[in-house]
Order: sequence, then C-alpha cells, then structure tokens
Amino acid sequence: MDYQNEFKQRKPSPQEMMDLAEKARKLAYAPYSKYQVGAALLTKSGKIYLGCNVENASYGLTVCGERVAVFKAISEGETEFEALAIATPSRRGNGPCGSCRQVLREFCNDLTIYVRKEGDKILSFQLTDLLPKSFGPQNLDGSE
Ligand code: ZN
Repeated sequence: MDYQNEFKQRKPSPQEMMDLAEKARKLAYAPYSKYQVGAALLTKSGKIYLGCNVENASYGLTVCGERVAVFKAISEGETEFEALAIATPSRRGNGPCGSCRQVLREFCNDLTIYVRKEGDKILSFQLTDLLPKSFGPQNLDGSE
C-alpha cells in the first residue's frame, strides 16, 4: 500500500497514524455493536499494519481491531512494535480492551498507544501504565 512507502524514510506522526487507524475503521465489520474500531500498528522496522474489528453473529468470536492488526503483523514475520493508534467512534479517549492489552504485552514490554479525545486531540498512553504488573512470556521461565 502507498502509505508503507511513504513511511520507509521517516516515522509517521501520531496524527498520521491516527489517520491510518481511521482509514482502517471504515472497513470494520461491526453490524451488531455498530462500534467500529480501526487500528494502525507501527513496527520497529517501520512498517504499519492496519486492523479493524470483525464481529460475528455468535458474538463471542468477535475480534478487536487491535488484535487483527497484531495478528496480521505476526503473520508477516513482525514481532517488535513501537506504537499503536486506535480510532473509535468515541471521543472519550478509549483505550484497548483488556484482552488486547494482554495480546500486545505478549510482544511488547512497552508500547505507545494513541487514542482520540474530544476535539480530535490525540492522547498517548504507555502499555505499562494501562497494564501494570503485567504477565508476559518472561513470567513462564520458572525462576523465583
Ligand atoms: Zn480489544
């Protein structure tokens, strides 16, 4: 996609990442909740993966946009991430759900997360603040 070439030479700004998340949001499949979410995930190698939520009539099989972006990146061989922008219909500064925080934590000790606030301001959070004392792969090593 053209935005991948645009960001080969420089990192996208938070606004540019949010614009890409908004682009992904337009593709959301959310006929049940009507809560369309888009995500743009920046890898340490400088690539961006987009995701949108994909709902299901069974409800329980719904996958969030953030996780779709992560799974797309992982399936392309990317495992190191730098930032994530999330576009939602809300201007409350909604962050990722608990499940997505845990999935992000699997691959990132920390990550910058951009969300929108009223007036289209962009707020940034750190994953370590959103998921304190988290459980990750390092917790499985068996040492005390
Ligand atoms: Zn989620």
